Amino acid sequence: MNRLILIKYGELTTKKSNRKMFIQMLENNIIKILNNFDFKIKKDRVRMYIECNELDLNNIVQKLKKIFGIHGIVVAHKVDTNKEAIEQKALELIQNIEASTFKVDTKRADKTFEIHSMDFNCLIGGYILKNTTLKVDVHNPDIHLYIEIRPEGTFLYTDEEKGNGGYPVGIQGKGMLMLSGGIDSPVAGYLSLKRGVDLECLYFESPPHTSLEAKNKVIELANIINQYSGNIKVNVVPFTKLQETIYKNVPDSYIITIMRRMMYRIAEAVAKKHKCKIILNGESIGQVASQTLDSMVVINNVTTMPVIRPVACMDKLEIIELAKKIGTYETSILPFEDCCTIFLPKHPVIRPVLEKCIEFESKFDYQSLVEECVNNIETITKLEKQQYIDLL
Ligand code: ATP
Ligand code: MG
Repeated sequence: MNRLILIKYGELTTKKSNRKMFIQMLENNIIKILNNFDFKIKKDRVRMYIECNELDLNNIVQKLKKIFGIHGIVVAHKVDTNKEAIEQKALELIQNIEASTFKVDTKRADKTFEIHSMDFNCLIGGYILKNTTLKVDVHNPDIHLYIEIRPEGTFLYTDEEKGNGGYPVGIQGKGMLMLSGGIDSPVAGYLSLKRGVDLECLYFESPPHTSLEAKNKVIELANIINQYSGNIKVNVVPFTKLQETIYKNVPDSYIITIMRRMMYRIAEAVAKKHKCKIILNGESIGQVASQTLDSMVVINNVTTMPVIRPVACMDKLEIIELAKKIGTYETSILPFEDCCTIFLPKHPVIRPVLEKCIEFESKFDYQSLVEECVNNIETITKLEKQQYIDLL
């Protein structure tokens, strides 16, 4: 093994008292996401080290780039701790980079190595000066060559890949994400994961008005954001009966408002059942009639559980940009209908009145329909697309 991966922790370095817990959570998450690889992991207060098969190295780096709580990823070269081997590797690394200035930075964790760090900087720097046309610049070098002399060998590296930042997923516990097939909710999920909130997803389906393709699209989206978590499940709510009852009993303009109040009631019940502390969704202020502040107030009124809307204050174009970056956009724009888009009324109310909602809801026994939805949820743990035959 000539190379190994060094992981530098992200924002968690600021959380002094919780540091141990954060690092442990990050290690668990890495182990889970790299479960298909053969590797060894070691950790200390400031770093983690991953040793793996040379052939897996790039694939592992790509996976690590998605894990939250990592600030930087470095591929370091390991050599025996002797001056000649270090000089040779230092030169080899530096010669492969186009630059005109450099700086050497030695850390001597192995105090049995007799040359002190500053002296070793000069020694290796001198060797590079002699063998290249590069010049030293200690303030703003083009190449920063790091040398870490450790008991198990010496590690050399020059550049660092940016990690994904954020907090280790799960450090905050779990939230229930209302995941539709649209653009917004997967982005909301990604942003929640980034702050350390792990997710379960809740998808409302209304067959035969919505298709298996629409459900598979949601499973696929969950799969994509699961690259950042590893724990995601999708709970599918059979929403048809409740939705049809709403259509029969509620005036057109209030259909969406009442439907969304029902969704929130179900989301709260399922969240509690699955030990989720909050509800999350992809609502964005003003985007559609049901997302004006007046609508949000009336819809939110059915629950006391906090509802967090990570994309609430983002423009659609900003959400799209992020969706493209995280890889959900292409799936989100596949043209399958959602339960919110079928039978869309011509003029949905944008300033709903709470008393009217309560009056419309008193016309039918929604409690038992909500209960039926909650009790008949299908929980998908293996995020694989389904076939019609699976459902028989
Ligand atoms: P788009 O990107 O087209 O806006 P969307 O998923 O955001 O899609 P909206 O009608 O804006 O669709 O819905 C607002 C939010 O309500 C969604 O972001 C999602 O969190 C939730 N939601 C809507 N439909 C469903 C559904 N069928 N299942 C679960 N959650 C849903
Ligand atoms: Mg939306």
